[in-house]
Amino acid sequence: MWDIDYTLLRGGGVAARAWRAAFTELTGREWRETPIFGGRTDTDICVEVFARHGVTDCTPEVFFVRYVEHVLALQHEFGEQGALMPGVQDVLKRLGADPGVVQTLVTGNVPQVAAAKLAAFGLSGAFDAEVGGYGTDDAVRATLVRRSLERAEAKYGERFAPVVIGDTVHDVTAALANGALAVGVATGSTTMADLVLAGAHAVLPDLSDTDATVRILTT
Ligand SMILES: [Mg+2]
Repeated sequence: MWDIDYTLLRGGGVAARAWRAAFTELTGREWRETPIFGGRTDTDICVEVFARHGVTDCTPEVFFVRYVEHVLALQHEFGEQGALMPGVQDVLKRLGADPGVVQTLVTGNVPQVAAAKLAAFGLSGAFDAEVGGYGTDDAVRATLVRRSLERAEAKYGERFAPVVIGDTVHDVTAALANGALAVGVATGSTTMADLVLAGAHAVLPDLSDTDATVRILTT
């Protein structure tokens, strides 16, 4: 269960720009303050943004429709302004060749935005996105892990030993709440020490050591 932002890639602020544009267009309100996005679900962020701007006549579902339109209009910018994190392609390829592994996404992004980011970096084929957990499933990240596991077990008809990999304390706690292996990667703004403190079973500085990363993820 891969987190996207600052684990697989960074989007270069494109999605945040789409978010602000959609917000102003939909609510007619000037954007005042940007919340901390890292590791949070889009539903959670949306509720906070509405509250902070005094918006009472909109729902996350309505907002996401417009937000996705803005992201798709800017999709070409992900590749120009963003970047893949080190080692990502090799790790995905190695795990993709392991018949005992299903790779999917557990991300706070709404599904269409997750897909747009991955497509911009040629990663769409690496995941079974159908069994992922997304920011539209719930405001609480732990629920996204649970939904992903339920979807995977329903689709494949077998039990999985879930592994969550992400760059924030939220990824780690969501994994632990579901009895999943929690692997932290310090390519975001959270330090290795803080990921360890959060309870991660393993922490990597980045994914550039393919052998070590694959070994940890398939333990
Ligand atoms: Mg992240």
